[in-house]
Amino acid sequence: MSHRIYRFETAALHAGQTIDTTQSRGVPVYRTTSYVFKNTQHAANLFALKELGNIYTRIQNPTTDILERRVSHLECGAASVALSSGTAAIFYAIITLAEAGDNIVSANNLYGGTYTQFEAILPKLGITAIFVDPKDPKNFHKAINAKTRALYVETIGNPVLDYTDIKGVAEIAHNNGLPLIVDGTFTTPYLLRTVELGADIVVNSLTKWLGGHGSAIGGIITDAGGFDWKGGNHPLFTEPDANYHGLRWAVDLPGSLAHMAFALRVRTVPLRNLGAAISPDNSWIFLQGIETLPVRMARHCENALKIAEHLNTHPKVVWVRYPGLKSDPTHALAARYLKNGFGGMVVFGVKGGYDAAIRIIDSIRLFSHLANVGDAKSLILHPASTSHSQLTEAQQRSGGLTPDLIRLSIGIEHPDDLIEALDEAMAKV
Ligand SMILES: *Cc1c(COP(=O)(O)O)cnc(C)c1O
Repeated sequence: MSHRIYRFETAALHAGQTIDTTQSRGVPVYRTTSYVFKNTQHAANLFALKELGNIYTRIQNPTTDILERRVSHLECGAASVALSSGTAAIFYAIITLAEAGDNIVSANNLYGGTYTQFEAILPKLGITAIFVDPKDPKNFHKAINAKTRALYVETIGNPVLDYTDIKGVAEIAHNNGLPLIVDGTFTTPYLLRTVELGADIVVNSLTKWLGGHGSAIGGIITDAGGFDWKGGNHPLFTEPDANYHGLRWAVDLPGSLAHMAFALRVRTVPLRNLGAAISPDNSWIFLQGIETLPVRMARHCENALKIAEHLNTHPKVVWVRYPGLKSDPTHALAARYLKNGFGGMVVFGVKGGYDAAIRIIDSIRLFSHLANVGDAKSLILHPASTSHSQLTEAQQRSGGLTPDLIRLSIGIEHPDDLIEALDEAMAKV
């Protein structure tokens, strides 16, 4: 697989794996903590990054390595680092380029856990997030200051699934000497290769569509490999790093590794010393999921569009948001970039508000009521009474979350069964 660039569907099955000496067709699970050094010189070379290789499974593992190579290939990146969750991937991406006193400028329509991390946890470590409305990329430009280290967006935002102008935000980042970090979880590289639109660092929760079966938690950071860390805004890459033998990441790495300085720093500083390592068993589960990502994702999108269109004409529905609907405010922008479909998430509001939404969720069959997205099975949630219930109604509304909002993560069942289940539950209100 090494020298050819295969098409997405082929790469999803083959990228990153070389048949090893056991001739095993399936990816082997290397369930080991550590690796025997060939001799003391080999050991010294590994620790000095003169040679890349296995030391300890907290830092790298051969099964996880195949997952990382596969995702790098699918994202068109230079190198990836898999971690124990998407949340850990986001945290490590930030602290790899920012330290106390620094800030990031972030879209305000984030996944709930990420919002809390940026709003409540990073500030305690001295890193602030300046939140902006991502609808107009110029808002990012206005918020940047001398201590800004990165811009941060999601491809499709929360809670109303608005598509973000990745290209527009990337241009602003690069004009200011900053990298753009994109959370691509809701689109996956099958729907959107954000690196081609200018993303410098891509974070994905493997837990969702990439894994696709709701069976494991994991995350991954992909370094696109094109960002110049020597531009003056990233002392963590140009000053000697006390965390790693005084290495200057953007200056001292040998030529063959220089383009993956960010991924290497993620691995050797936060992953090595803070330890949110993925288990090789979970890496294997995610590889199984990725093998079928293209066919699953196509079906998720096809089903979601059918359901959004059905809800759009339903007498008990007040509004529907899905970037694939022609009437959606971000449809024109989304349609320019999302050539393989508009994702598996649909949100809508019902007549009768909060009480009606609750009744639908309590009575619906087939849809699982739970706080996850991206499972092969269809899921339903009422954010106002669950994930966002700690906020006041005013706070919820200011983030675009209305009491009538029902969130659907559309699975790969037969769409008519899903439509029948929705209609039946709505008939009860
Ligand atoms: C789920 C999710 C995360 C967090 O990932 P975990 O694997 O649950 O830690 C981050 N961003 C988005 C958009 C998500 O959907």
